[in-house]
Amino acid sequence: MLPGYKLLVNKILRDFRDQFPILKQEVNGVPLIYLDNAATSQKPAAVILAESEYYQSDNANIHRAPHELGERATAAYEKVRESVREFINAESIDEIIFTKGTTDSVNLVANSLSQFFIKPDSEILLTELEHHSNIVPWQIVAKRVGASVLAAKVTSFGEIDLADFEQKLNAKTAVVSFAHVSNALGTVHPVEKLVSLVRKKVPGALIFIDGAQWISHAKTDVRALDADFYAFSAHKVYGPTGVGILYGKKELLLKMPPVNGGGDMIERVSFAGTTFAKPPYRFEAGTPNIAGVIGLGAALEFLKKTPWKELEDSESEISKTVVEELAKIKRVTIVGNPKRRMCAVSFTVDAMAPMDVAVKLNQYGVAVRAGHHCCMPLMEALGLPGTVRASWSGYTTREEILGFSAALKKIVMEEETKPQELGELTFGKSFAASAKQALAELREVFLSSAESRAELLLEFGAAHPRRLEILRKLAPEVQGCMSEVRMVTRSTADGKIQIASDSNTEIVRGLLTIVERVFSGQSKEEIKELGPESLFAALDLPGFVSMQRRTGLESVLREISKSINK
Ligand code: PMP
Repeated sequence: MLPGYKLLVNKILRDFRDQFPILKQEVNGVPLIYLDNAATSQKPAAVILAESEYYQSDNANIHRAPHELGERATAAYEKVRESVREFINAESIDEIIFTKGTTDSVNLVANSLSQFFIKPDSEILLTELEHHSNIVPWQIVAKRVGASVLAAKVTSFGEIDLADFEQKLNAKTAVVSFAHVSNALGTVHPVEKLVSLVRKKVPGALIFIDGAQWISHAKTDVRALDADFYAFSAHKVYGPTGVGILYGKKELLLKMPPVNGGGDMIERVSFAGTTFAKPPYRFEAGTPNIAGVIGLGAALEFLKKTPWKELEDSESEISKTVVEELAKIKRVTIVGNPKRRMCAVSFTVDAMAPMDVAVKLNQYGVAVRAGHHCCMPLMEALGLPGTVRASWSGYTTREEILGFSAALKKIVMEEETKPQELGELTFGKSFAASAKQALAELREVFLSSAESRAELLLEFGAAHPRRLEILRKLAPEVQGCMSEVRMVTRSTADGKIQIASDSNTEIVRGLLTIVERVFSGQSKEEIKELGPESLFAALDLPGFVSMQRRTGLESVLREISKSINK
């Protein structure tokens, strides 16, 4: 290595990171460590500026306005098509379709192919590692057409089982679709090998690659990959949300019928019959996200000036460091051990729910994801309810990874095994004269507390009686909850309802404290009058209480309703 080379590389990486204003902030009093890049990447100032400048000076609808602004907007929009072509090395701009994102691109192809290519006895081969957006659109069209969806298995290393993949390819296979990189585990799939396996075994099948997690981490060459379709989202490549790309081979796009009808996608419209524009316009009905496309253009310009080699080297160092650091922490298990990893690692912590780990990391300024990562079939195949995922990007530093692992170590150490209640089950006390009053008091606590709602819920959770061991012997799991939730209710001689509940997830335990505080020890009439289902409307719950968790808590409340109606 030349003397001074390391210093130079460090400066290049610092300059790159400096262009992302959002990263300069503190969260919870400490510098933000953003490790949720697989969900969305941050935006450089150039992208933010490009969108606002477009609205300040050039805004007009494209492709039809016969005036200066219209011309400028159209030229700027179409210029991005060329930038995308160059970025992924497509042959022609006619192969570049602007969509709303990867999800929209999959839906477009699935729906178009279902009109002429996918037949009632066709098979669509996916893998167990796919994001829901590369599963559900295929299921919807398969159901409509009468075709079947198959999935190649995942190995314990978190890789595609190639033997199973090959074995599932057969004369009925019409479409094969897989991700370039797994968003849940960070596995880089051997896409070249997969493409050649499909071409050899079923030359007539069409291949779709979901490039959402690859696109910002390494160069893409669609001609070398030789898939029929390639898709990605602008927001994962430092661009804005709401814009995506579908690349399709020109000869194929020419054969494909449109999916959405409307303005700008037609050649001639008449009630006797309408003819469609040529690709790519055939697939871009209506006014598109013009500012978003221009933002994507700015992101690609930004990336053109980016030192890819230095970024790729830095990211692979980060990848190594994350795995090494996590491996040192007791009770932490990394999920999967792929030959090649990019951008993300998933892990679990013994006896801690992924959401609890993520919420606690947030208190140290660390942003990670927890849950199924839109990969429920993968979680099922691996026998996991969910994982914590840390995902990085070109601007992630080694210091951030060390900060993240130090925070995780502390969290794991603090989580000493808390003693379980033994012997007889205790029930929630009566906290106020009526359920209404208990709710009003809780609202007061929520509104007047200096702590965030998330912190309050965690505090409630930490103080909730640990009854899970006993409850497991007495009650089945409440159906419809993401975490394990168990509950027993009883009526006292004076007609009051008492509740004993617990969960294996701290945040849910916090929610159960609320349930017990409001309803336990109250009369059936009181509870009925307030209406258990109305509880969450009355408390403005924080954003991380996901829809699924809310649905779970609704199941708990329904159980209470059932018990008072007995
Ligand atoms: N595929 C993969 C592998 C992804 O990671 C994502 C986003 N998490 C998607 C598809 C969907 O992308 P979008 O939501 O931008 O349409």
